[in-house]
Amino acid sequence: IKENITEIRPNVWEIPSNFKREMKVPGRFYLEKDALSSLEEGAIEQITNVACLPGIQKFAIGLPDIHFGYGFPIGGVGAFSVRTGVVSPGGVGFDINCGVRMVRTNLTEKDIKPKMKEIVDKLFVNVPSGVGSKGKIRLKNNEIDNVLDFGAEWAVENEYGWEEDLNFLEENGRMLDADSSKVSDKAKKRGIPQLGSLGSGNHFLEVQKIDEIFNEEVAKTFNLEPGTITIMVHSGSRGCGHQVCSDHLRAMDKAYKKHNLNIPDRQLACAPIDSIEAENYFRAMAAAANYAWANRQMMVHWVRETFEGIFNQSAEDMEMSVIYDVAHNIAKKEVHNIKNRNQEVMVHRKGATRAFGPGRVEIPNEYRKVGQPVLIPGTMGTASYILHGTDIAMEETFGSTAHGAGRKLSRTGAKKKFTSDEIKADLESKGIHVRANSDPVLAEEAPAAYKDVDQVVRTSDSTGIAKLVAKVVPLAVTKG
Ligand code: 5GP
Ligand code: MN
Ligand code: MN
Repeated sequence: IKENITEIRPNVWEIPSNFKREMKVPGRFYLEKDALSSLEEGAIEQITNVACLPGIQKFAIGLPDIHFGYGFPIGGVGAFSVRTGVVSPGGVGFDINCGVRMVRTNLTEKDIKPKMKEIVDKLFVNVPSGVGSKGKIRLKNNEIDNVLDFGAEWAVENEYGWEEDLNFLEENGRMLDADSSKVSDKAKKRGIPQLGSLGSGNHFLEVQKIDEIFNEEVAKTFNLEPGTITIMVHSGSRGCGHQVCSDHLRAMDKAYKKHNLNIPDRQLACAPIDSIEAENYFRAMAAAANYAWANRQMMVHWVRETFEGIFNQSAEDMEMSVIYDVAHNIAKKEVHNIKNRNQEVMVHRKGATRAFGPGRVEIPNEYRKVGQPVLIPGTMGTASYILHGTDIAMEETFGSTAHGAGRKLSRTGAKKKFTSDEIKADLESKGIHVRANSDPVLAEEAPAAYKDVDQVVRTSDSTGIAKLVAKVVPLAVTKG
């Protein structure tokens, strides 16, 4: 495959639409040369498969953290015409609205250094985590439906966090397309006890320090001050979203045959956007997305309470406002400029972060002039980054960029190579406090199991699909 790829400008690669007969658009990749040469062919193959799906617009896109996934690659975007296109659960992923939220503080490293152990231990207790972890609240009868329909709004109404938080969440933390009646009882049953929990493995709660500013003007706009402490929460829709995905993959497997869609890989099972199967999936997906926004909202509330207890100050006095909350596994109807016309498309972002450029109405007023904040976590032992969205992203990637470093080793591969004890010792020697819920997690999540996040954000910055604003480094991490 790689011989058919040409560099159309530095670090932007194209695989032409005549590579396969069924391809409707070219494939595009954002990678430095060495990252492209080490990329598994399977991921490129998956991009060419996505390019075959009905109604796809512009390009099938591979972002700087692209790797092989279920049907669609992770670190990928596909946008489909709402008239002629499809919706596909595999293009969203199992953890619907897995995403990242960042909270700022006016504290500095000096303030928190003496309390590091207390912070880690209390966060670990106050924010439930682990495989199949249960939240600490008891939802009443049909309350889950309100969570699914209203998302973070439900959480704020129930006194988890601040009204103003909603302004700084993608979709304001609630997709209006959600319909809880499209979510199966099984998915609800899995969701009820897990609401307000982090999950396991890759999901984390991290206390960080702003270590470097690349763009002072934008950093000021986002309220990012060098040397101050930030907190990052990475979590999704838990078993609820997973079940929604499984339920609808099964339905889609029938639907694509019923609608006579010609797809190159069964894992790309999909349905025409105006079909009942697509409608059912999309409304259930939006409901699961709302669950995830409520979930992150609750956890941020407990983070604030934890800091209040430790520092004996109110969260308001510590200026613990939300910088932003991004969804990196989601499908949304958005308007984009295609062939010089504004057109509505169903944008699938799987392991991809929205990176809307200046002026878009979806961006909060406070940030609109500079583009939205883009949150890209690295690993528990390396930096994470804040970028901002750009006009180039709007033109080329449907306003999207990477979502993380991307895995290099599988969990099993990482466990063979590292032990949790040695990873923990290594992190502690660098001054990073860690706590994990189960023994293998630290080995599975070893920083060396991930690709180089510095390279990922550099590629995004140099190609212009999202530009660097600030770098944060970890001080304390809790893992599921
Ligand atoms: P996901 O697992 O949701 O696909 O990817 C999220 C990204 O988070 C990963 O690609 C990885 O780069 C990053 N990540 C995983 N664990 C940690 C962690 O403990 N801390 C930070 N800062 N990033 C992490
Ligand atoms: Mn994620
Ligand atoms: Mn996830």
